[in-house]
Order: sequence, then C-alpha cells, then structure tokens
Amino acid sequence: MSLIVQKFGGSSVRDAERVRNVARIIAETYLQGNDVIVVLSAQGDTTDDLLAKAQEVNQKPSKRELDMLLATGEQVSVALCAMALEAMGLPCVSLAAWQVGIRSSSVHADARIKKIDAERIQAELDQHRIVIVTGFQGVDRNGDITTLGRGGSDTSAVALAAAFRADLCQIYTDVDGVYTTDPRVVPNAKKLDEITYDEMLELASQGAQVLHNRSVELAKKFRVKLEVLSSLERKPGTKVKEVTKVEKSNIAGVAKDTSIARVALVGLQHNPGVAFQVFDLLSKHNINVDVILQSIGREDTKDITFTVHRKDLQEVEDILNQHKEALRFDHLEPDDSIGKVSIVGVGLMSNCGVAAKMFEALYEAGVNIQMINTSEIRVSVLLDEEDVNRAVKAIHAKFFDEN
Ligand code: ADP
Ligand code: ASP
Ligand code: MG
Repeated sequence: MSLIVQKFGGSSVRDAERVRNVARIIAETYLQGNDVIVVLSAQGDTTDDLLAKAQEVNQKPSKRELDMLLATGEQVSVALCAMALEAMGLPCVSLAAWQVGIRSSSVHADARIKKIDAERIQAELDQHRIVIVTGFQGVDRNGDITTLGRGGSDTSAVALAAAFRADLCQIYTDVDGVYTTDPRVVPNAKKLDEITYDEMLELASQGAQVLHNRSVELAKKFRVKLEVLSSLERKPGTKVKEVTKVEKSNIAGVAKDTSIARVALVGLQHNPGVAFQVFDLLSKHNINVDVILQSIGREDTKDITFTVHRKDLQEVEDILNQHKEALRFDHLEPDDSIGKVSIVGVGLMSNCGVAAKMFEALYEAGVNIQMINTSEIRVSVLLDEEDVNRAVKAIHAKFFDEN
C-alpha cells in the first residue's frame, strides 16, 4: 500500500463532468489499495473571476481581504469533489487548509508554507478516508487565511507529499506532461519523459506555468517523486527527478514570462551603499526583484535597472517615489511592456556554444535584446513584450528542429 498525493488544476475540475472525471481517477487509485490525499484548485477561471469581483467594489483592496475572497474558490472545489466521491459510495472528507493546519507566513498573496500539522489528516487516513484538501492556501499564526501566489496549489500538493512522506505526488493538468516549451505557443513542442528538479525549477521560475516554482523547490529539497500528467488522457506524463538521461548537446526547454516589468532608477549617486538602500527597501516591502543591471550614467552618477513582477510595479513606483529624497535619484522610468525568454538545460554548463545559438536565433528573427542574464543552467533575455512569442518560436526551432 502506498500513499499518493494527487493534485488537480482548475481546468481539471472546471464543471460537474470534470469533477466526476477527477473523482473516478481518485477512486481508481484508492480502490487499488492506496491512501490518497487530494489537492484541488478552484474551478476553471474562478480565481480570476473573484479578482474581478473585488475590483468592482475596491480598486485597491487589502491583500488580507483578497486572500479571504480568493480562498473560497478552492473550498467550492473540494466540497464538490467530496460529494462526487460520496455519490460513488467512497469514504472521504474535504478540508480547508486552516482545518488541516497548513501553517504559513503572513505575507498575504505570497505566503510560504512553514509547517503542516499531521494530526487531522493522519486521523482521517487512519479511518481509510480519502482526504481532499484546498490548494493555494494556508493559515498564518493569527489564524488569518493566506494564499500562496498564483498557481500555488502545486506547492500545497508537494508540501503535503513531503510532510506525509508520500510515495508519489501526481500533478494532473490540461497537458499530458512538461514540454520543451509551452505547447500553446509552439504546437510541435516535444513532451519530455523526464526532467531534472534543477531544470524544472529554472523553467518554472522563468514562466513555464505548468508547475509553480516553489513546488519544484520543495520537491527537490524533500526528494518528492513528482509526475506531471493529464487528467483527460490516461497515459504516462513527465517525471521530475534528481538525475535524468541527459542529451548533453541540447537544452531541456524554452520558457517565456510576460508578467514582468522593468524599472530604471536614473541618476543615483555613485557611492557605496546605494544598491543596498534600494533593494533593502524593496525587500522590506516583500517585493521580489529579478534581473538587476547597474550602469554608469552621466557626471558621476549611476543607473540601476531591475525587473519585478508586473503586479508589483505600481507599488514599487510608489515606494521609490516616497523615498526619492533619501535615495537621491533623478527620475524613475517604469516599463510594463517587456517580456523575458529563457533557455534551460544542464548541458549549458559544459557547452559554451549554446548561448551563441540562442542569440543567433534571435538575430535571424530580427529580435532586439534589451538585457541578458544567466545562471549555471540558464540564459535569459529581456525583450519587447510583442517579440516574445516570435522569439520563443525561433529559439525552439533552432534547438529542436534543426537536428
Ligand atoms: P493547472 O490549472 O492544471 O494548474 P496551468 O494552466 O497552471 O494548469 O498549467 C498548465 C499550462 O501550462 C498548460 O496548459 C500550458 O499552456 C502551460 N505551459 C507553459 N509552459 C509549459 C511547458 N513547458 N510544458 C507544458 N505546459 C506548459
Ligand atoms: N486557483 C489558484 C490560481 O488560479 C491556484 C492554482 O490554481 O494553483 O492561481
Ligand atoms: Mg497551475
């Protein structure tokens, strides 16, 4: 007997028919003699619809109240799924994250899971019940409901798999695995049988939304056996693991991110401590900063350019402008029409021609690069947002069609 965590995304529980489909998959796993913990997302576009509802009453709602609202989406899904399983005569219980004790930090809209209490879920498993838990949310030490960031149900699933030492964590979605790039952008993208944690983490962090990046981080840390597969077609998916058979000459995939914005702080003093002042201020407001570039400006000044999540742009502008006197910059240039395209592969470490090949593809497609950023196993370029899909297609074709 094994313990299996099964997570189903929004499209997999979109309507009654899909909820029944999910219930059948769960039932099959349970009836094979396994313990099953299920994690569900909100149905279809529910989370977006709830965000729109919030806007109708307040353009700038507090993050606490937004979390309170968004968390309801997942509660609907778990209750409906439990009802579908009940209708099949199977013992089950739905639980919200606060009932389980999924303890998180207090950073609303971007909370991190700190600890999961074992008692309630264990008691239910001991009664041979299927346990169905709301994804995407936690409870902070004040008892307030938090959410884990968009796409966070994957992280709930992996955290539960780690906490209960599950034998397998299955992420069921609307594609049958991880592809060499988003199959919606490049229809001939190739499905990967397996991918390393490191590559998947980079792809997810660079915008491949098929897995929430923190879920991969946790899976790597706690060695959770992870599989991405389709809830609509019964076939093997993609295994995410420590080591894979590497095709050294190639990359694992191409990712794009159009949810970023760039901020240039122009005319800062060219003194020690300036970068510290800027980024310390942003970190105190829980703003995540990604690519950073510093360049020499005119008359002994410097410019610092960096990227943030687009949803944080207005807040970043407000914070920096409020501290304009202390930071002593000339002006601020925000740009919310940029995007980022990245290639990822463990083969990059030992193959210096790979980056050149990416730049060649961009040159041939006539795409201008604004900034470049690399890690050991990744090369990212910042581009005009309108060039992003063309760049993904050109790079993907260069690496996957030409040999
Ligand atoms: P869910 O609602 O199940 O969590 P998501 O929409 O969050 O599903 O993630 C699945 C989507 O991720 C796919 O429909 C696909 O368009 C997109 N995607 C982006 N990059 C990739 C990739 N490399 N491989 C597979 N899917 C990808
Ligand atoms: N429902 C949440 C979202 O749409 C969480 C998730 O689906 O993982 O972002
Ligand atoms: Mg998702």
